[in-house]
Amino acid sequence: MNQSTLSKEALTYFEEREKLCELCRKFYEKGWASGTGGGMTIKVAGDIALIAPSGVQKEELQPSDLFAVKLNASLNHGCEIIDKPENLKISACTSIFTNIFNLKASAASIIHSHSVNAVMLTKITKAQELTISGYEMLKGIEGCTYFGSHTIPILDNVEHECDLAEDIGKVILQYPKAYAVLVRDHGFYVWGKSWQQAKIHAECYDYLFGAIVQEKSLQALSLI
Ligand code: ZN
Repeated sequence: MNQSTLSKEALTYFEEREKLCELCRKFYEKGWASGTGGGMTIKVAGDIALIAPSGVQKEELQPSDLFAVKLNASLNHGCEIIDKPENLKISACTSIFTNIFNLKASAASIIHSHSVNAVMLTKITKAQELTISGYEMLKGIEGCTYFGSHTIPILDNVEHECDLAEDIGKVILQYPKAYAVLVRDHGFYVWGKSWQQAKIHAECYDYLFGAIVQEKSLQALSLI
């Protein structure tokens, strides 16, 4: 992208903007952001975050398309918009992202994935939580070991994504060791202390969700 064509606002945090766009392209290729779904945010300063806009093709995102917000828990949606690209709408995930940032001081990046593995997993259980054990890939999630177990919450889906914000805030406090929240029939939210760790966590959880779906399918056929 030619930097000289960008506004002063879009040039701020240019490297992080490019990285966020690159990651959205990768997540689209993984099927996590098909049909304009999914989302991502990266904190670029103590209280400033870049957020991918709503309803755009994530694989086509440009650095100037990103919103910049200043986190402020006392405001509506938990933030003040400080850079709004023309003709674009802020993500429906905004109040969820800001709630996670405001409640998890260590979170520096959050990914929202519409992964098929996550959706299928929530269809084979009616439980409100998922406990994972017996997989090497657990080691990719901070604080987890192969011989331990790891539990994350599952919320039921709602019609309007922003209505999940309050419940996600509640379960984050109930499950302090979780780095993800599953949303039934919808996908999952996952975070990390950097964009790198958020990406690793997203990949590990997604792998584990897919593996568990396969494990349950084979058990149902009495093959394992
Ligand atoms: Zn969604």
